[in-house]
Amino acid sequence: MKPSPIPDPSGTLACIHCGLCLSACPTYLETGDENQSPRGRIHRMRALEEGRMPWEADTLRAIDLCLGCRACEAVCPSGVPYGAMLEHTRDQIGKRYRRPWLQRLLRRVAIEQVFPYPERLELALAPADVVRALGIERWLPGPIRDALALVPSRREHVELAPFSPATAVAPGGTVRRAGFVAGCAMPVLFSATNANTVALLNRAGFDVVLPPGQGCCGALHAHGGQLDEARAFARRNIEAFERAGVGVVVVNAAGCGSTLKEYGSLLADDPAWAGRAKDFAARVRDLTEVLPVPMPTSAPAHPPGSRVTYHDACHLAHAQRITRTPRDLVKAAAGADYVELPEADVCCGSAGTYNLTEPEMAARLQHRKISHILATGARTVITTNPGCLLQIRAGLIAAGAGDIEVLHLADYLVREPGSGTGRVTTV
Ligand code: SF4
Ligand code: SF4
Repeated sequence: MKPSPIPDPSGTLACIHCGLCLSACPTYLETGDENQSPRGRIHRMRALEEGRMPWEADTLRAIDLCLGCRACEAVCPSGVPYGAMLEHTRDQIGKRYRRPWLQRLLRRVAIEQVFPYPERLELALAPADVVRALGIERWLPGPIRDALALVPSRREHVELAPFSPATAVAPGGTVRRAGFVAGCAMPVLFSATNANTVALLNRAGFDVVLPPGQGCCGALHAHGGQLDEARAFARRNIEAFERAGVGVVVVNAAGCGSTLKEYGSLLADDPAWAGRAKDFAARVRDLTEVLPVPMPTSAPAHPPGSRVTYHDACHLAHAQRITRTPRDLVKAAAGADYVELPEADVCCGSAGTYNLTEPEMAARLQHRKISHILATGARTVITTNPGCLLQIRAGLIAAGAGDIEVLHLADYLVREPGSGTGRVTTV
């Protein structure tokens, strides 16, 4: 495509207004309002950029209400880079618009200064356990009670034990070396899932390295428009994995994977880091991209005769365009018990921290997702992202269906939750 003569840093001019993205957009599906559609938002981003709309609460509302799910990007025939445009616009909002103090507190402190740091997150979650132990949830204000409902009541802590590199099982005879991205929320909320992921990688013939010095991928900051902070996280991770000297970098959280794969564009304007970022991004693989299909399971993966379904995490399906392999892995283990979920790739309302910043729309989408799950009759729901796991679990509990299990794909395939069989190599 010829470069546009009009400055277009966010890429809005690529949109040909065809409207093909509208039926893929969760907020448009819920509201039927063009302002809450990708096309409407792109028009708005352009108007903001050209100074035809003010950077103030009313005009920015539609941008805030976007989930950043990128379903629109995946179906767009014109290749509109919607995710990058949204990040650019949110970066500008951060610079040009001062939010009310409560929103600033939630976004800039609670979300950006707590979630990316496992120790702080662990501390922040401690009061939730106390409130539950005292049974005083019902006395809390509604928004706090809703946020509390997302926190798992039982958080196992499974350490990834160091092991000798030679102990990986290599079905094909060759042991490969993979770096594992442990994440920031995963070790606190889903440490058993991390251990199970490493166990699967071991079984698939990978020696798994857990490079010290790695940290949050920067997704929360990038999606919130804090691009400089996201770049700082990216540099730290690139350095840590370069030191480990691994061929592939494996991640089991869809949201983190999509950000890690985009480090090349995040640091494209930084001459000292652009090449390293591009090289790093090319090595990143979602877990489902490196496991063999079928993956041998060590035990029946679900109660025989009960149905199993799969929910697409947005940042796996839309941002990374990975929909077939995770389904094939689930189908291979579930066999005839697999049932397809209607609207499987429509966002569940979690969207990073969207369920905290936009609880009303998040609840509508959660309800929509839960209705579809209940209609399938499934007793097991599989997905690949921590936010989806929390959102769907909370929704099922609220619907009186808390006995339906919601599992990360790694937990489903290993089926030895909490056994801690994953072994990592220390470097
Ligand atoms: S599908 Fe793409 S080109 Fe068509 S309206 Fe949506 S963003 Fe614009
Ligand atoms: S990112 Fe998702 S919510 Fe936002 S406009 Fe695109 S499809 Fe709609």
